[in-house]
Amino acid sequence: MMHLDLATRTEGDFIYRTAILNKGSKLNSIKLNYRLSGTNMPERPSSMDGFAFAVILNAMKNGAGLHIHGPMTQLALYNLEELQQAWTLWKPDVYRHIDIVADEIIDKTPAPENKTLLAFSGGLDSTFSAVRHGMKLAGSGSHNIRSVMMVQGFDIGRDNDKFFMKAVERSQKFLESLSLDMRLIMTDSENPAFQDWDDSHGAELACCLHQFSNEFSFGMIGSTKPYNCLTLPNGSNPATDHLLSGSGFTIVHDGAGYTRTAKAEVVARHPLATAQLRVCYEGKLQYRNCGRCEKCMRTYLNLRAVGVDSPACFDVQPDLSQVASIRARNQCQLGELVSIVDFARNNNVSAQWLDDLQNAIEAYAPPQPRNVARTKLRISTKRMLSKGLGYVGLRRPLKALIHRAYEANAEVQSRLPPS
Ligand SMILES: [Zn+2]
Repeated sequence: MMHLDLATRTEGDFIYRTAILNKGSKLNSIKLNYRLSGTNMPERPSSMDGFAFAVILNAMKNGAGLHIHGPMTQLALYNLEELQQAWTLWKPDVYRHIDIVADEIIDKTPAPENKTLLAFSGGLDSTFSAVRHGMKLAGSGSHNIRSVMMVQGFDIGRDNDKFFMKAVERSQKFLESLSLDMRLIMTDSENPAFQDWDDSHGAELACCLHQFSNEFSFGMIGSTKPYNCLTLPNGSNPATDHLLSGSGFTIVHDGAGYTRTAKAEVVARHPLATAQLRVCYEGKLQYRNCGRCEKCMRTYLNLRAVGVDSPACFDVQPDLSQVASIRARNQCQLGELVSIVDFARNNNVSAQWLDDLQNAIEAYAPPQPRNVARTKLRISTKRMLSKGLGYVGLRRPLKALIHRAYEANAEVQSRLPPS
């Protein structure tokens, strides 16, 4: 039997909550740390719901039962059962169904005013959801979004305060224009030794949202794939994200009725929303877009397809002559490219880059399973190495050195005359 406990403390303006998953002895326990800032926050959350979602996949992988030491809402326990049904069918070789017991089962009423907290990164998906609901574009179905939550520890590391604050600043004007305030949270829950991020990222994000359930009734996660191009299993999807809810706090998966290009069309109507977009995950400076990687190029084409020729979110505009050499890495990326061509053609856009993109789509070849496994191993090794450096206290100084080098190089590049 595994045991889930919670330790909390307040230090200055911060509240620290630590979920401790004990696998039979203190020596064999894992801690997930969360640091929250803000006023009106209770030190202890009213339930353990969020933490249970954060550790469920690890517990299922372990295969032993889970004893939760603290209150759980009944709805969260129903949902954990159903969530297990999904993952045991999706990955029967990895996850096993386990029994879950809680010290106390409680009911919890939603916080007043039906307020919604949106998980926000500055990417196209969360920016779309902010615009859609912040401007009430969904009519009477619009959520009462008042705040967004930004997480340090996922795409931008815990040891990189500088880049994280630059990412926060980048979105500030846009969020202020919608009267949305920011809730910041830091966590180390993205730990490859603990669970597979591809499977767990929705649950880990939901756990962060649950930290604010004293004030909000809904936590919103922006969709990454539309209903007509779903890829399952995936850690966040419209089939199971709602199962990350508990009584009084509902997780909402938003925007799956829109392709990425349809989202770009909504966002592009608002210059502040477009200017702050932060979509790059391969560039060295994580608070801006490199303009060269696959995601930057794809987002650029999303915006070109809806009529934006020089999107302000790119310091350096991607090079359209590279479109012909785009090669989708998987069926999903291919679907995204097809949706760009479809949207542009339906809106009577004609350009050389569209013909080049059509040719690139036709040249698609499915990836070899060996290459997929190799890529996954490379990413996992990188994360494990980073974790190992953290254990011996070297990660923070090494990364600070690397980040300074990246920034110095970027300054040199920006001073060079255009070629
Ligand atoms: Zn990029």
